[in-house]
This record gives sequence, C-alpha cells and structure tokens, in this order.
Amino acid sequence: MENVTLHDLKTRLTEVSDLSNVNYLLGWDQSTYMPEGGGDARARQMALLGRLAHERFIDPAIGRLLDSANGDLSEDDAALIRLVRRQYERAIRVPAAFVAEMEAHLAKTYNAWTAARPANDFARMRPLLERTLEFSRRYAAFFPHAAHPIDAFIEEGDYGMTAETVARVFAELRAGLVPLVSAIAAAPPISDQPLRRGYSGDAQLAFGLPIIRAFGYDFARGRQDLTHHPFMTKFSNGDVRITTRFREDDLGDALFSTLHEAGHALYEQGINPAYDGLPLDSGTSNGVHESQSRLWENLVGRSEGFWTHTYPSLQTAFPTQLSDVSLDQFYRAINRVQPSLVRVDADEVTYNLHVMIRFDLEMQLLDGRLSIADLPAAWNARYTSDLGVTPPDDTDGCLQDVHWYGGLIGGAFQGYTLGNIMSAQFWNAALAAQPGIPDEIGRGEFGTLRGWLTDNIYRHGSKYTADELLQRIAGGALDVNPLLDYLTTKYSALYQLNG
Ligand code: ZN
Repeated sequence: MENVTLHDLKTRLTEVSDLSNVNYLLGWDQSTYMPEGGGDARARQMALLGRLAHERFIDPAIGRLLDSANGDLSEDDAALIRLVRRQYERAIRVPAAFVAEMEAHLAKTYNAWTAARPANDFARMRPLLERTLEFSRRYAAFFPHAAHPIDAFIEEGDYGMTAETVARVFAELRAGLVPLVSAIAAAPPISDQPLRRGYSGDAQLAFGLPIIRAFGYDFARGRQDLTHHPFMTKFSNGDVRITTRFREDDLGDALFSTLHEAGHALYEQGINPAYDGLPLDSGTSNGVHESQSRLWENLVGRSEGFWTHTYPSLQTAFPTQLSDVSLDQFYRAINRVQPSLVRVDADEVTYNLHVMIRFDLEMQLLDGRLSIADLPAAWNARYTSDLGVTPPDDTDGCLQDVHWYGGLIGGAFQGYTLGNIMSAQFWNAALAAQPGIPDEIGRGEFGTLRGWLTDNIYRHGSKYTADELLQRIAGGALDVNPLLDYLTTKYSALYQLNG
C-alpha cells in the first residue's frame, strides 16, 4: 500500500499538472479556433494559470513531502521523486511574480507575431523581443551556477547536455554534413515539380489520416485540427492532439507535418497510463521527443519501402496530378536536397544547419554579443554563409519560427538536432532487435516498430533521462555517426555520388 506522504505528494502534483493542462488547452484553442478578438483576454487568462501552477508547485509543503518520501519506494516512485526533486529545486529559484509577468508578456508577443510575421514587420516585434530577451536573461540569472546563460535553458529542455557538449556534437555533425551538402550541390538536381501541381487541402488532409492511424495514433484519444505552425499538445493520457496545415502548391507540407506531429503523439499516447497526471507522464526531453517525430517523419515516412506500399493510394487520391509520375520520381521529389530559407521545409541533409544557426544566435543574444536590433542582419548573414541563400525579407528570415515569439530565447532549438542524431541511434537499435521492420513497413504495417518503441521508449515517459535511454537502448552515449551514415548512404544513392 502506498504511504500517506506519497499519496499526498501525488495529489498535489496532479493538481499542478491539471492547472498546466488547462493552460495547454487554452493555448491549443488560441492556436486553432480562437477568434482574433480573444487575444488580450486569453493572454491574461494563460498568465494567471501559469502563475497558479507555478505557485502551487513551489509550495514549501511539496519540498517537505519530497524530503520525507523515502524508504521502501517502487522503481517508478523512486524515479518520480528524483524527477520532481530536480524540477522543484529549479522552480523554487523562480519567483511567482516573475512567472506571471513573463507569461503575460509572452502571450501578448505571440499575438503580435501572428500578425507581424505575414506582414514582414520586424519593427513591430523589436521592442517586444527586446523585452523577451530581458526576461530570458533574468530567467537565466536565477541559475548562476551555469557556465553560459543558455545552460539554464538546455538543462530544462535537454537535461544532461550543456552549451559546451551541444557545441561539440554540432561541430562533429557539421564536419560530416558540409562535404555531403557540397557533393549533392555538384550533382545533377532532382525536380520536386510533381509536389507543386495544385492539391486540394481537404484531399491532402484525408490522405494523411489513415496513415497515422496505421502508425498507431489513437483517434479515440486524440484529434487533428488546422493551425499555422503545426504542433502536438497533451491534456491527459487520454487526450493527445495534433495540428497541421496545408499548402495547395506543396503536397509535402501537410503530409510530412502530419507524420511528424503523429510521431510526437505516439510517444505521449504510449506512456504508461499509471503515470497520468504526474510529471512522469511526458516525453523525457526535447531531443528524445524530436527523435520520435523525426523517426516517423523521415526514417519511415521518407523511405523507399514506405512509398512502395503507399504511393499507389496517393496516385489514386490525386490521379490528375500524379498519374504520369513514377514511384521513383516521387520518391526522389520528396527527398530533394535544396538549401532553403525555412527550417520546417528543409530536407534531411540541410535541416541541421538551420538549427545550428539558431543555437549560435541564441547564445550570442543571451551573452550580449548580439542585440535584437542586429538580429535580422546577423540572421541573414548566417544564411548566406552557411546555406548560400539570403532571406529577401524577415517573414522567411528571423520571424519564421514561433519559438522566440511565444517563449523565452534560449534552448529552444538544440533539441531538434539532438533528436535527429538520436533518431538514427534508436532506429539502428530497433532494427538490430527486430530485423523484419523494413519488410513490414514495405507492407504498410508498423506494429513491430511501434511496439519496440513503446516498450523501450514511450512506456517510460520521463522515468529515464535521455542519457539513460541511450545507454539502455544504444549501449552508449550520443553519437553523430549513425545519422551521418544513414544520410550518406541514402543520399549517395539518390544523387549517385560515387566515392
Ligand atoms: Zn517536432
């Protein structure tokens, strides 16, 4: 039987989680159905809930319960206490008044950004973003032990990593990517014209749904709606939602964002239901989360085997657009490598270069080497030098990502590339354990893959850290080589690169 202390602690934690989840529901509504006029009141309401959840969590009673919750704990309860202790020690450093002020500012900034991005209006965002940077620095200063201000954010999103370790891993990855990008640039180009022939939005959405159902996304515990910047959100184990968007002139946009967000959702839906309402009931880090969205989007969704099975039904759905396009032409089109301006549209090879730019700029903003006023120019200069493309405006430049406009500046991006790196490590481990997975995918079956991921990753929620998961599954630390090997093999074949 569970002891009284533990029971009391869990009751309090569930209340905190409920407050946060109600706030996420308001956020989901804000990004999907809320009319424009609701913005100001919604900002206030979300700030209130954010403050209430924070106040309730930093209650000294929780600290006392943590101190006395020891003795004969189950493995899960011990993991819960470890995780909550870590979160609590961090949270008590941040005053509730700061949280309230920050949340109100962030909600207002997000509302402004939804209008300023399409209008290419960085000037409107500048004072707001300067304020966000101020909040970000103040937040980082609550964690004075960090070697760099960004460490405060990395520790929160990708526990176990620091600015120094991220920078080292990124440098290793970059050293492998740059020659691959150059070799591809020198090869005959691939056309993605088949994807740009005018596809009805409704038909695109209808095509994606049975695929993610086959992946294992449970619509009895989820739903998909439209938004402008796709995301996954969770209100409980029984309600894990995804969003998407479509473009009639880009068949890939809705399709791959749907597969991506479904990957995030499979992780959350797969967590042990006994953790519902407790801090263990969420993916363990940004990087591990992204490893799952990218695994389903890319390693499965952009693979030849997957499309061998799926392409005939896509042709049936869009006969006028695709009847003269062969499977091979389509497979090549969805894997075309082209340095571009927008991260979320980037191919697998150049994607991580987009992330590295943002990570470096975040560090420079936080430590004072870069001002917000100079951000657009710095952004454009990095795109020119790293990707060989220069943004013609800020809409597709430094205004493109929601992260700095709906959250603090710092730690928002490294998880994407850590996730790509881990996705290849986890994929290799899954295939070593279950060599039949590629054949199954070629038959449109995903149960063995999803089952393996559920047993080894999803089920555990936040019970293990990213490092512990890697150790358990891949038998080692973060390693860029599986990703580089995967990319080199796949794209050498696609672009016929020899040697
Ligand atoms: Zn994602």
